[in-house]
Amino acid sequence: MAPDGQILQQTGAPNVYDADPIPEAARAEIERLLTSGDLFRYTAPQDAPVALLEAEFAALMGSRYALAVSSCSAALFLSLKALDLPKGAKVLIPAFTFAAVPSSLVHAECEPVLVEVGENYRVNMEDFAAKLPGAAAVMISHMRGHTSDMDAIMALCDAAGVPVIEDAAHSLGTVWGGRNIGTIGKVGCFSFQSYKMVNAGEGGILITDDPEIAARAIIMSGAYESNWKKHPGLSNSCAHWQNKLPLYNLRMQNLSAAVIRPQLPLVAERVEKGRANHDHVAARLNASAHLAVPEPLGPEVRAPDSIQFNLKGDWTDAEALGFQAATKARGITVQVFGLSEGNARAFWNWQFLGEVPDLPQTRAMLMRACDVRLPPRLTLAELDYIADAILDAAVEVLG
Ligand SMILES: *Cc1c(COP(=O)(O)O)cnc(C)c1O
Repeated sequence: MAPDGQILQQTGAPNVYDADPIPEAARAEIERLLTSGDLFRYTAPQDAPVALLEAEFAALMGSRYALAVSSCSAALFLSLKALDLPKGAKVLIPAFTFAAVPSSLVHAECEPVLVEVGENYRVNMEDFAAKLPGAAAVMISHMRGHTSDMDAIMALCDAAGVPVIEDAAHSLGTVWGGRNIGTIGKVGCFSFQSYKMVNAGEGGILITDDPEIAARAIIMSGAYESNWKKHPGLSNSCAHWQNKLPLYNLRMQNLSAAVIRPQLPLVAERVEKGRANHDHVAARLNASAHLAVPEPLGPEVRAPDSIQFNLKGDWTDAEALGFQAATKARGITVQVFGLSEGNARAFWNWQFLGEVPDLPQTRAMLMRACDVRLPPRLTLAELDYIADAILDAAVEVLG
């Protein structure tokens, strides 16, 4: 999907696809692990890299427990299992999310109920309130970091006694009303896949303050026999659940933790840089009559590593596709979510769900919402190149 190297060279466009180097500090630890062969998280009696990561991540977020696993998808699945939902339980999810979210529900034998998402990429609270009765749980996906009204969601869910799982895969560093995203619901799940704020290739982590949820997730992640004893502060709960729950073996291994740990101290800086970059490009795009970057909701402080904007006014599909092509010719890949073939964030492509009801509001948004990567490392000149390319492409198409 990225423009080929030749276009980048010809246009001088910045490469927004390459990852950043992993901090030097990871090397010595990886060397140590390769030398000892101590890669399994439960071999060392204490202080295994995965255990240290869990302690550091919990401290970073201000939560009581953290469990590192193989992916955010695994964390979402384990969260649903840890809530002990009955088979076929209805779980609300936003209709604008990544396919991993409805997939985790299929895996946990829950039934997804898709909620409309507005043109600001946030859950439509009227539709949410209408669909909440009868739901056993809610999984809110802070898609691309865009945070739905968590105050309203928590008020409704608390009143109804419905637990909330936060899919914060792509939202590490976002703050809502002074609270870290992922700590507002009962469970928060994060990703360390390469396109997220912290890159380990693959990996995920779940956080919670609830000892029963933590214990159940730990056992099911694969803490067989007495390995759960290496998770501090959960002896009673884990002893209770041992052998009563299946082992799905979704553990993280030590090499991943060695790659992740030296990146955690960099998160604050990446977040600040990412926000400044985003806001610079957003201000430039909002100066156009044809483009609009939705505002965050009042309590949200964003942590973006990409930008989303809408094609404003009466764009036809052909014009939107022409705009995609015109940016690509300038070396910048703009993806209109609903117009890129097989996009995993377009609900009509989730054929594994069977019949999906139409969600006209979400569909209309996806047909005009654009996505551009904006890694925090970009310089002001590179950001301006990207903004110019987008603005020029819009003028070229609309005249
Ligand atoms: C990336 C992502 C996921 C899946 O994360 P993995 O670690 O790749 O499983 C889930 N939800 C959202 C919103 C994401 O961006």
